[in-house]
Amino acid sequence: MKLAVSSAVLALVPALVAAHADHADALHARHHPLDARQATPSHAASSTTSTPATGAATSAPTGTGTGTPAATATPSFTLLATNPTAVPLSDIVSNQPSSATLPLASTAVPGTTPSNIPGAPPLPNAQILLPSNYPALDVPPPIDSDEVKQWIQEVQNTGVVIPNFAPTNAGGCPNNTAAVADTSRCWWTCGGCTRSTDITECPTPLNWGLTYDDGPSFYTSNLLSYLDQVNLKSTFFVVGSRVISFPATLQTQYLAGHQIAVHTWSHPSLTMLSNEEIIAELGWSKKVIKDVLGVTPNMMRPPFGDIDDRVRAISLAMGLTPVMWTRISPLATYDTDDFNIHGGTTTVQQVLQNWENILGNATTSKTGFIVLEHDLFEQTVEVATGYILPDALAHNPPFTIQPVVSCLKQDMTNAYIETNNNSTNPPAFSAAISGGVVSVTGSAATTTPTSGGSSGSGSGKSSGVSVHVGSGLAALTTFAGALVGGVLSLGL
Ligand SMILES: [Zn+2]
Repeated sequence: MKLAVSSAVLALVPALVAAHADHADALHARHHPLDARQATPSHAASSTTSTPATGAATSAPTGTGTGTPAATATPSFTLLATNPTAVPLSDIVSNQPSSATLPLASTAVPGTTPSNIPGAPPLPNAQILLPSNYPALDVPPPIDSDEVKQWIQEVQNTGVVIPNFAPTNAGGCPNNTAAVADTSRCWWTCGGCTRSTDITECPTPLNWGLTYDDGPSFYTSNLLSYLDQVNLKSTFFVVGSRVISFPATLQTQYLAGHQIAVHTWSHPSLTMLSNEEIIAELGWSKKVIKDVLGVTPNMMRPPFGDIDDRVRAISLAMGLTPVMWTRISPLATYDTDDFNIHGGTTTVQQVLQNWENILGNATTSKTGFIVLEHDLFEQTVEVATGYILPDALAHNPPFTIQPVVSCLKQDMTNAYIETNNNSTNPPAFSAAISGGVVSVTGSAATTTPTSGGSSGSGSGKSSGVSVHVGSGLAALTTFAGALVGGVLSLGL
């Protein structure tokens, strides 16, 4: 079916924060007044609709696979298939009336072990999770707690040299001229620089590493229901504060065979934080996921894609491999911009145009791909389940749609620190050493940081520095083995 859609052109403007946060909470509260375990996130929307200090999600041209800035595009897209139960496009708008959420398909039973992860520990009893044992939701955690002090010490014990960059300023690239000019930072936000340890795509053509960010939320269950129907698994980059609010949803996702990964505690722009604050954000997120699932993810996605070599070094030292979304040029980033329907800064028609552009590039690419989508808002789930996923499933040639770890040809066991096979899938830290992305002090190992180590602002990947993930993984597997033992002794 061909749909030609014209819509009012919406300029890309910074998201309006407080109003939408309040609105979302009010809607949620009406539909879920009694569910204590699935309590309304205190600032679910504000944590993620905040204008990224770096300007990543709003100032950069995103989701424009053909290179046409979204702000000036006239949407015109073709959908191969639609879901007969899809919410009409005319209803997927900012401030739409809240629709029903589906119950979780199953209730996770403590002690259960996931069938797809041999050796996984039994599922903890999430009902005894005490929010008072965790930091306040949706704000960066304090750095003087015993837990954070321990994680800081563990990072120091790795010997990883953390680059001495000052945190970036609010205001995006225009307000960070010195940082942007310093290409040794390899700052993705302003130029798209990546390192060999960043996962930015799937190695095999037509493979889609399916990801959803910012949940779990009230609408995650609707997405899970659809994924079950069509037998798809995804990677979910979850916010620690949302895990506190939706532990049962996270357990259901995990037991259903989806990959769970880290998306920080309060969804800040990580390059704006101090080293200690970054450690606190990642550490608490790792901990609450471990407390709810019994396992700790070994992949992370920086909110807004905001990562530089300082954030990379800390993430890798904490056992977390960064996962981005595919970016083939400054104007062709695989971001649907679905997140901004809720706030009214884009339309569902524009999101489908963005998807169509991504589809065109992905179909002809020599590698597979990763797309940015979200399961936080009703609108993002409705466009995914009603349009994007049905369209992708009807695509010819067919896509192989799977979690990121699977598109990397790894078993789901290798998505978690406790179950990862370190001999065949070296942990992030040792992979980073062997890849020359980080250097270490002391006796662990010493390598020279990547020479000329930036692909530079605006220049994307440098073939001399960053390699595509397929060959990168092979290289890391080959070279890292000898280092693994020493790393493991550090207790990462
Ligand atoms: Zn996010």
